[in-house]
Amino acid sequence: MRNPDGNLIDRFLKLKEERSAYVIAHYYQRPEVQDVADFVGDSYSMALAAREAPCETILVAGVDFMAETAVILCPDKTVLTPEPDATCPMANDITARDVLEYKERYPDSIVVCYVNTPAEVKAVSDVCCTSSNAAKILEKMPPDARVFFVPDRYLGCNIARRLNRDLDLFHSCCPTHEEVRLHELLELKQRYPDAKILVHPECRPEVVDVADFAGSTRAIIEYAGASEANSFIIGTECGILHPLQKAYPGKEFILATEDLICPNMKSITLEKMIYSLEHLETRVTVEESIRDRARIALERMIEYST
Ligand code: SF4
Repeated sequence: MRNPDGNLIDRFLKLKEERSAYVIAHYYQRPEVQDVADFVGDSYSMALAAREAPCETILVAGVDFMAETAVILCPDKTVLTPEPDATCPMANDITARDVLEYKERYPDSIVVCYVNTPAEVKAVSDVCCTSSNAAKILEKMPPDARVFFVPDRYLGCNIARRLNRDLDLFHSCCPTHEEVRLHELLELKQRYPDAKILVHPECRPEVVDVADFAGSTRAIIEYAGASEANSFIIGTECGILHPLQKAYPGKEFILATEDLICPNMKSITLEKMIYSLEHLETRVTVEESIRDRARIALERMIEYST
């Protein structure tokens, strides 16, 4: 990835001040995007940061469902995306109709919806979750309830195994995390026997099985900091290497595979962020009736997580 131009950074920071904008970025963003953000985090902490944003304008450096989440939680703020085409293929696999058809078949079921979904899907779900709180939220569900977990079958399967509970799963998964393969991971472990394996629970279950730790991006960063180990094999999108190397310069981080790049996350650039603030584009909106229902599922997630 090319080095950021210092002039671009200065221009962006000046504009950010002029527009009184609050910039929220995901850990999978380019290093220079993370460095100019007011807040960098995982999906859950981004949602909380949006809710508590001290400015009227929020620029979200992340894929579309993250910007939608900010709109749903802060309907009175102006939420901008620098790249409206930055989306999540896994989120786009599922529709509200998929959930409604399931609900028709099992009217007493509970739908737990990963935040990686369009607002329309959140609006017909009972509660949202992220990778950092999915287990906690599922533990709050009555043990005998039939639960439909959407849309990530790997995350759902990994949590179901951890909690020893049956879940009905939608069939999608993250194409980036799916690139982490067991045989490559084991080869790396042979080359770096002292390295701890840290992976995201969007990875395949057989990959999670051999990991020393599976957790959200924030949890992976915290684990690496608290661990006495000095080297780590990382099974999540390459953007996480930036905060890891910044926070722990003495430690070694090895990416599980070079294919751990989400092209949608990386489609956001400083140039696009400058354009976005200059022209106050592209404003993200969510139709009111969808927004109000989706908000219930998101607020319920926040309530169950605390
Ligand atoms: S990393 Fe995977 S889950 Fe995250 S935005 Fe990219 S495709 Fe979607």
